This record gives sequence, structure tokens and C-alpha cells, in this order.
Amino acid sequence: MSQAILKPGTVHREALRIAGEKVHRDRTIEVTYPYTGEVIATVPKATLDDVRNALRIARDYKPTLTRYERYKILMRAGEIIASRLDEMSRTITLESGLSRKDSLYEVGRASDVLLFAANQALVDDGQVFSCDLTHHGKSRKVYTMREPLLGAITAITPFNHPLNQVIHKVAPAIATNNRIVLKPSEKTPLTAFLLADILYEAGLPPQMLSVLTGDPKEIADELLTNADVDLVTFTGGVPIGKYIAGKATYKRQILELGGNDPIIVMEDADIEEAATLAANGSYKNSGQRCTAVKRMLVHEAVADRFVELLVQKTKALKYGDPMDPDTDMGTVIDEAAAKQFEAVVNEAIAAGAKLLYGNERRGALYSPTVLDHVDPEMTVAKHETFGPVSPVIRFKNIDEAIRISNGTAYGLSSSICTNRLDYITRFIRELNVGSVNVREVPGYRLELTPFGGIKDSGLGYKEGVLEAMKSFTNTKTYSLPW
Ligand code: NAD
Repeated sequence: MSQAILKPGTVHREALRIAGEKVHRDRTIEVTYPYTGEVIATVPKATLDDVRNALRIARDYKPTLTRYERYKILMRAGEIIASRLDEMSRTITLESGLSRKDSLYEVGRASDVLLFAANQALVDDGQVFSCDLTHHGKSRKVYTMREPLLGAITAITPFNHPLNQVIHKVAPAIATNNRIVLKPSEKTPLTAFLLADILYEAGLPPQMLSVLTGDPKEIADELLTNADVDLVTFTGGVPIGKYIAGKATYKRQILELGGNDPIIVMEDADIEEAATLAANGSYKNSGQRCTAVKRMLVHEAVADRFVELLVQKTKALKYGDPMDPDTDMGTVIDEAAAKQFEAVVNEAIAAGAKLLYGNERRGALYSPTVLDHVDPEMTVAKHETFGPVSPVIRFKNIDEAIRISNGTAYGLSSSICTNRLDYITRFIRELNVGSVNVREVPGYRLELTPFGGIKDSGLGYKEGVLEAMKSFTNTKTYSLPW
């Protein structure tokens, strides 16, 4: 039933959801509001037995939901989320420090995910192959069908989108009749519990979803190696992604890892548009998106004008109190992260980059920051800076732009600002990334469309509702004599 879980001045005591059952544990983890540092809730530290229990229930349960029933559950969950928009947005803001503008947007995206997953649940993409195609062919047909996995899905999600990262794994799992055990980030676990309750309320058999929180050092290996798990879907940073790749052996792995996405501005670009895309791409969600603009590669002929407009737009951004409805940008996830951005920006300044705006910090609040004349080898550009920092790198020609763009370990997405078809063609062919968006931010996509990176950003298997549904199923073929 609808009830706000977070009440001002009280510390909410959250429970695990093991197949729908609320389970408390004496050992807990505190969840804090990054803007004030206040503890807003505690979540249990699941034990190894909790993990094993949740996975066994998931493996043993064999869902019988029809396509229509899955559609109805997902659509109903979307309706409930829409009716609790304010509460969900507040919960996201309280646990993450993201502005209300960002958290409201995130809840809207979650509704899209549910809508697409519900609709895809109705679609049977089975194929039919005639067998009389070659000289030794026969008059038979091969048919394909998708089946849910035999075992459970382990899902592990990051802090940056407490709802969206979770729903991109849970909704496709439901749409394909799978059973999923979710471990959200211990920094932002509250929205995930809220979502689970909404799905149970919408009619989801509780055995199909468990939500566990805990100390990764204690429970992560069990989630990755337990024999009841068939697939691990992970979104998060590169080091843990690679750890999972080595640990979860002989299990299907979907790894959506970090990014260092460029916006590339050519000399013919509409500079006003490019600066707007750059600022939006860099500061939305406090710069904490895997596909945030993390490097700005600008042709030297237009760089001065671009930088002037970028600084203007950066200054116009209102940052501060996340709960103020007018605030564009709230805090980053915690003070440690903010200090790290400060450190890499200071390092760049010491090495010759020019600070044009920002680099101010108060607790977990870190100002949007513009750096010009950044060298691509500086830490701020070479590695992922998961915060609101805009490093501008100037280049002379398209060859240099492509070389710099491809010159990091990542390969997630990219944004290209030009109207020249010869340039566009080269970028699409030569950038080693999962997506190229012309005159859009790197993060642009539909929740339905394929999404994901290569190199250190991922193994090339995509997410997005459609691709997730494919990867969460086994294709069975059968052949018939007619
Ligand atoms: P993180 O890698 O620190 O943590 C992600 C999750 O892994 C958390 O739930 C954490 O508890 C869990 N974890 C910790 N140790 C583990 C272990 N040994 N085994 C298994 N799981 C373990 O990431 P974060 O700081 O929460 O999120 C930021 C990162 O996520 C950034 O690098 C960002 O680029 C990336 N990200 C990628 C995408 C994408 O789709 N490619 C989307 C969003 C964020």
C-alpha cells in the first residue's frame, strides 16, 4: 500500500525482501542524505544463508505467467509508480543527493522502461526456417522459441541511478518469466525496495524477485558463484566488472561498465547547440552517468567561442540544495567522491590546464567545473571522472580528434557536432564505441534500444529492454516434418 517510507527526523529501518518476505537482521548499513550527512535509513546486512535461500527459491520457482499476465503486471507497476511519483523522486533524492529535477526525470524514465517491457512481453520473436534450401535439404522446418533461464539471475547495480539501473534489469527479467535476485548499491538501496513492493502489489509472484543488501566483501562471491545462478548482470565500475568477469565462471555475464564519453565539436558545428549539449551532457545527474560527457574535444578554430558559451551556460546552472525544486544540480554521491574530483582538477591545473569556473567544494557538493587547455594524457581526461567536470581539449583536425577520442581504455558512447556527412561517416566508422549520436548527447537513447559499450566499457553485449530480454533467455529450436 502507498506509504512514504522516509519521514523527516526519523531513521527508517528497512528490511530485506526474500521472495517478498520482509527480513530484518541485527547488523545493518546506514544510508545517508549526502547533502546534510544525516542518516535517513538503515538496511540489513544479508547473511550468506540469506543469499543462498533467495537464490534457491528463485531457481526452484517455475513461473507460469502468460504473456498477457506479464504485460498486466508491468503496466500496473507503471501506473503505481506514476501515482507515487513524488515519493519515489524524494526517495531517490534523499539517498543520492541528486536534484529533484534529476530524480523526477529518472522516475519518468522508469515508466518508459515498464511500458516497453510490457509491450515486448506480448511479442513472440520466434523464427521459422524452411529446410529445403540446399541440394541435400528436406521438406521440414526449424522453429525457434525463447525460454527463461533454468536458474536464477543475479543483478548488481550502481548508485548513480537508484531506480533506472535497477528497473533495466528487473523489468526485462519479469517480461521473460525469469527469477531475479537483486543487490542494489549499498549507497542507494532504498528505491530498489520501494520498487520491489510496487511490483509485488502489481501482482508479481514474490518468488520472482528478491532484494538483498549487504557487505559486498561478505556476500558478493556467493551471488557470483552459487550453482543456482545462470546469469550475472552487472552495471558499475570497471574494476568490479573485471573482477566479476574472472569470478562468475561458466555463467552468462552482462557487464555494463564505466565510460569516458567525448563530445566532438567540429569547425562547422552550430556552436550554441554544441555548448548546450556539452553542458547538459556534463552536469545532468551531477555528472554521474556512465554516458555523461566526460571530455570535450573542440576544433581549435571554434574553441574560444565554444568555451565562452560553455562557461556562460555553466554559470547559469543552479546547484545546491537537492530538495529545492529550482535546483538543477544537487550533490555527488559523497564527500569522498567530491574530494577526488577536486584532486584530479587540481592536478590538471598544476600541469598547465586553465580553470575557467568552479572547483569549489562543500561536503558532497561539488560545483560544475570548466577546465580549458587540457592535455588528453592528464588524469582528468584519461580516466573516468564520475562528476560534473568539463575538461576542454583542443584539436587541429579530424584525424587528431579520432585519435584522442579512441585514446582511452573506454568505449561506451559519443556525441558528434557537425553537419558534414564526410565527417559523420568517418566518426561512425572509426570511433571505437558502442554508440555515436550526431547532434545529441552521448546518453541519448530510447529505453528500448540497444545500449552498451566495448573495450573496458563492456563485453559488447547490450542492455536496453529488447537486448536484455534476448540475453535473459535461452533460444530453443525444434524441427517438425511440415
Ligand atoms: P561500483 O563498481 O563501485 O559498484 C557497483 C556495484 O557493485 C555495487 O552494488 C557494489 O556494492 C557492488 N560490488 C562491490 N564489490 C563487489 C564485488 N566484489 N563483486 C560484485 N559486486 C560488488 O560502481 P558505482 O560506484 O556504484 O557506480 C559508478 C560506476 O558505474 C561508474 O564507473 C559508472 O561509469 C558505472 N556505470 C556504468 C553504466 C553503464 O551502463 N555502462 C551505467 C551507470 C554507471
